[in-house]
Amino acid sequence: TPLTHQTLATLNPAVKTPTYDRAAVTAGIVHIGVGGFHRAHQAMYLDTLMNQGEGLEWGIVGVGVMPGDKRMQEALSCQDHLYTLVVKHPDGTFEPRVIGSLVDYLFAPEDPEAVIEAMAAPAIRIVSLTVTEGGYNVHPVSGAFNLDNPLIQRDLADPQRPASTFGLVVEALARRRARGLAPFTVMSCDNIQGNGDVARRMFAAFATARDAALGEWLAREVAFPNSMVDRITPVTTPGDIDELTSRFGVKDAWPVVCEPFTQWVLEDHFPLGRPAFEAVGVQLVDDVEPFELMKLRLLNASHQALTYFGYLAGYRYAHEVCQDPLFVAFLLRYMKEEGAPTLAPVPGIDLDAYQHTLIERFANPEIKDTLARLCAESSDRIPKWLVPVIRHQLERDGPVALSAAVVASWARYAEGVDEKGAPIEVVDALREPLMAIARDNRTRPEAFVENRELFGDLVDDPRFLQRYLEALASLHARGARATLEALMGSRG
Ligand code: NAD
Repeated sequence: TPLTHQTLATLNPAVKTPTYDRAAVTAGIVHIGVGGFHRAHQAMYLDTLMNQGEGLEWGIVGVGVMPGDKRMQEALSCQDHLYTLVVKHPDGTFEPRVIGSLVDYLFAPEDPEAVIEAMAAPAIRIVSLTVTEGGYNVHPVSGAFNLDNPLIQRDLADPQRPASTFGLVVEALARRRARGLAPFTVMSCDNIQGNGDVARRMFAAFATARDAALGEWLAREVAFPNSMVDRITPVTTPGDIDELTSRFGVKDAWPVVCEPFTQWVLEDHFPLGRPAFEAVGVQLVDDVEPFELMKLRLLNASHQALTYFGYLAGYRYAHEVCQDPLFVAFLLRYMKEEGAPTLAPVPGIDLDAYQHTLIERFANPEIKDTLARLCAESSDRIPKWLVPVIRHQLERDGPVALSAAVVASWARYAEGVDEKGAPIEVVDALREPLMAIARDNRTRPEAFVENRELFGDLVDDPRFLQRYLEALASLHARGARATLEALMGSRG
């Protein structure tokens, strides 16, 4: 059965469908970046709220700003903006559910004016974002807004017909200001530490470059709550689409698949109001930072800890690595002895249970998260997720052996050749310079960590350097598996 509003009542009863009257749902949110994650997370939370008979004024208007988003517009418009979310349990059970909270989808490259006016409409009280880390236009070295980006230059030259997220959102805010309407709240749901703070800095910088008074007003008047978001959502594959049809009889042009776990910790700062998120399991807090650090240093850093070692040991999927007892022991020890001690207490969270849950989540064989995905863009990840753990441990004279070994596993991976001599496809914005340095790993083993833009002054600390050099030498002499065995046999 093709998925549409008409066919909802006739779908296989195993597929849950909205229990509310979709015709009664009105737009209250515009969301930019309707990818897999938004559809597995925020749109799902709102659908849950609506199933409880609440929040029907918080329907979502999706927006795509990238040329590639045309496909999403086509897929959704043919099925009345409905789609199926398939939750994949580790025992092979699939839980399919049709989500109805998305009420429209606008494709900005074809009609920027419609996007701007949608955001300027008085009923819109939140503009939310999942535009990836790169979408914030942060200059990689200076950390400031990258004004040299040609797209930004273009939007500054022609602010009425913008193409970027910044141009579109700021023009909508400018129109609201001119019309005497209060600004909407900008809610970033990207995986960036201090995502709201980063968004505020970047949007204010763009607005200031357009008009200093507008920038000052934006920085003062617009709310940018921080959030921590978590749900592993891999890219939908053609196999996922076929399986939804063969197992449940639903034909959906672009369903979403995800793990059962979901978490959203949100700073409660919404001057124009917000949906009753607390009714559907969102944690509303004053300070998101302890939750963010927990996620970055345990979940994200553990992904780094498993991925290079795992790849070098011959694995290709995260669940394979996390079903191997040697790796599980290594990850648990990294978290317990090196990652977790750098965290402040996290309100309401049992950190020990959280660590074990992570291993279970990573081991879910249905998710098929690839090591290739986890190994990509390491130069954005290791410095943000793992290096702060090492620094913190060095300051308190704590252990760094396992974290230093993870850095060494990245350096070994960046050599671009695996343990059997086969080439590795290194995906990184800094691919060329990193691979060039890594080629000298055997003759100048400290060269990789001498890169101060990535590692700061870590190389100057003899405790770190010794552990790093030991691990790198062992990776060369004995390989990934034996290196882990040796690390697990010793204390450090
Ligand atoms: P996706 O590829 O399915 O969708 C990404 C969306 O972002 C697309 O609509 C794309 O057009 C848009 N986009 C990309 N670059 C952009 C730019 N420069 N400006 C505007 N829009 C841009 O990816 P996804 O799985 O939905 O993940 C998106 C983001 O969500 C991640 O980068 C991360 O910050 C966050 N997130 C993802 C997961 C996950 O498991 N997938 C988990 C937590 C958080």
